[in-house]
Amino acid sequence: MTNKIFDTLRNIIQDVNDASELQQALNIIVQRTKQVLHADAVSVYFRDDKADQLVLMATDGYNQKAVGKLKFNLDEGLIGVVLNQTEAVNIKNAQTHPNYRFVTETDEASFHGFLGVPIIQHRRALGVLVVRQTQQRRFSANDETFLVTLAAQLAGAISHAKKAGELTNLLEEDDHTSFVMSGLSGSPGIAIGEALVVFPPASLSAVPDNAIAEDEVEDQINAFMDAVNNVEQEFKELSQLMAGTISDEELGLFDAFCLMLKSDTLLDACIDRIKAGQWVQAALRETIDDHVKQFNAMEDAYLRERAADIKDLGRRILMYLQKQQTSSQPVTGPVVLVGEEVSVSQFSEVPLKHLVAIISSKGSASSHVAILSNALGIPSIMGVDDFPVNKIKGQKIIVDGYNGQIHVKPTAAIIKEFNRLIRDEKSRNAELNELIDKPSETLDGVQIPLHVNTGLLEDISPSLKSGAEGVGLYRTEIPFLIRDGFPGEDEQAKIYQQVLKRFSPRPVTFRTLDIGGDKALPYFPVVEDNPFLGWRGIRIMLDHPEIFLTQIRAILKSNKFDNNLRLMLPMISDVREVDEAIVLIKKAHEELSNEGIDVPYPVIGVMVEVPSAVYQMDALAKRVDFFSIGSNDLTQYLLAVDRNNKQVADLYSCLHPSVINAIQHVVTVAHKHNKTISVCGEMAGDPVSALALIGMGVDSLSMSAGSLLRVKLVLRSFTQKQAKKLLDEALLMENAKRIRLLFSDAIDQAGLNLYIKQ
Ligand code: PEP
Ligand code: MG
Repeated sequence: MTNKIFDTLRNIIQDVNDASELQQALNIIVQRTKQVLHADAVSVYFRDDKADQLVLMATDGYNQKAVGKLKFNLDEGLIGVVLNQTEAVNIKNAQTHPNYRFVTETDEASFHGFLGVPIIQHRRALGVLVVRQTQQRRFSANDETFLVTLAAQLAGAISHAKKAGELTNLLEEDDHTSFVMSGLSGSPGIAIGEALVVFPPASLSAVPDNAIAEDEVEDQINAFMDAVNNVEQEFKELSQLMAGTISDEELGLFDAFCLMLKSDTLLDACIDRIKAGQWVQAALRETIDDHVKQFNAMEDAYLRERAADIKDLGRRILMYLQKQQTSSQPVTGPVVLVGEEVSVSQFSEVPLKHLVAIISSKGSASSHVAILSNALGIPSIMGVDDFPVNKIKGQKIIVDGYNGQIHVKPTAAIIKEFNRLIRDEKSRNAELNELIDKPSETLDGVQIPLHVNTGLLEDISPSLKSGAEGVGLYRTEIPFLIRDGFPGEDEQAKIYQQVLKRFSPRPVTFRTLDIGGDKALPYFPVVEDNPFLGWRGIRIMLDHPEIFLTQIRAILKSNKFDNNLRLMLPMISDVREVDEAIVLIKKAHEELSNEGIDVPYPVIGVMVEVPSAVYQMDALAKRVDFFSIGSNDLTQYLLAVDRNNKQVADLYSCLHPSVINAIQHVVTVAHKHNKTISVCGEMAGDPVSALALIGMGVDSLSMSAGSLLRVKLVLRSFTQKQAKKLLDEALLMENAKRIRLLFSDAIDQAGLNLYIKQ
């Protein structure tokens, strides 16, 4: 494709993505495509699933009256051929094709040249994009590539706009039509609450709509002008700072920015929106969107670049506005925290006693937010495509974490039904609570202690109450994530001591800082193309011995209760990393001893969560005292499936044959060396997968407190021999779904499915 066509394509896609309504997006597509390909007509047809027909949705060149009326059966006409063959059809004279259908409503008789491409998303044809020419014309290979690329890029935008439009209508209707949206279950449970929307700082696109009263208008306008003045001041200071360092021409850019910032069109448009009743942040979002669209529509490359400047200005103004309104969201009743991508630090925006559920439109079951909600026993739903985050504020929502479903605007009858389910759940939990003091052992007397994964101080009491026999994974990064800077040695030690003390004499396994990947510290940004394959976990710590040593010293000196401390290293992919870490641990221990702080040398273990560690077990066993399998990462790396990517969530399974074979190998080698082996990924807390792990002979399991009693129920309902027999069968299977079914059927047959519901 030539550069010019490519540029145009990029512009069209940008405009379609910016369009606020589906019809607007479709009109842009047909009009711009007609111009670019010098065609006589361009049309978009959508599949109507209810009627099993293709419907004309937009056209430039056909009779506009046919929009919404012209319909084809799915196998009818040339567009039927495109849809069913799911490939482009390019014909010089359409009228000679046996499937040609003459359509009077559109004056079609005059068209000969035909190029049609399917619009496909997730392997399914959503519709057809068609270009027609009055003359006979075979479209060029370049034209075809252009249209195929456009259709491929548009599928997502179209389905997004379609869904967003439908949902906005549903939300704005005054009646009580409830609707259900589906995502992935992040953590089980049912809750009802009001939506509280959180958005990342200074993300314009995530700002929700919010109507204001007349008497708020003046304050909102003042807030806006204050923010604008602050940004202007910031530019002036920056410009002074840079004077002499950058060229005059570059310095002139700051003046240009200030002019743009104070331009009447920007200020007036935003103020008008506030006066019309929109709150300042959304008024800004709409105004900036408008300006960006205008610049994007310009063919001139220089002017198009200005769109990025306008966006940047918008973000800067928003930053000041958000500073003024932080923590101004009063919370009184049960709250469902909702966001595009809820981060761990956003948990703190709502007092925990009010937080009943979490919905994150991005992410998956093994994202850290899901793990944390599990730890807190709060249902969560992740990866909800097209969730109307911007429009949902204040709505009543039911979150069904078992089935990954969200009920929006629920009717009284639905609320009643879910309240009944919540009561049932409570009574089942009461039955499970009877297991708290019972031993964690199989029917044939094999003891497999159940530990908790934690990282929050708030989580200690629920963990102890669940009857956990220790902490199998203390994620030390969590206290780091909810602060503004690296906590110092004493600040860390205070936290570690509390955990060791509260659990004593039970063992507590502290994992050293595991940042990077999807756990970025706001004050230590790591920007990489492939964060999960990049600077993560132990790699960062070894490169920053000062941070590592501070943490190790804090952990070691907290060990003053029953010597119940264990130290664990994450993301080990090479024995050298263990050797280097041990050198630093020895150094920290020695330093403390020289300072008169005599604490025992710690028991050290490593996480097996990178495939290379699986095949270095012999070498690792010579160096450490224990192992723990991080099945979340191990699954991600073995299957090459991003644990946070909803698009491939179907492929992510800890019961995949290669994962269970790898784990079996790790258990066997660890035992050959008389080392203990536990599992601390989410797999351990999934009762179905836990049965497989029991069959493998793991020594302990570590999971979220909320899962512990369910796993204990399974553990106490089978003999290890039975679990081993099931595992032997599973190891011969070739398909993850079948393997899951094998174990879940066994759980059903034991009459436990009501408790294990997930
Ligand atoms: C894992 O990878 O399984 C694990 C327990 O660590 P995290 O989820 O914190 O990466
Ligand atoms: Mg991990």
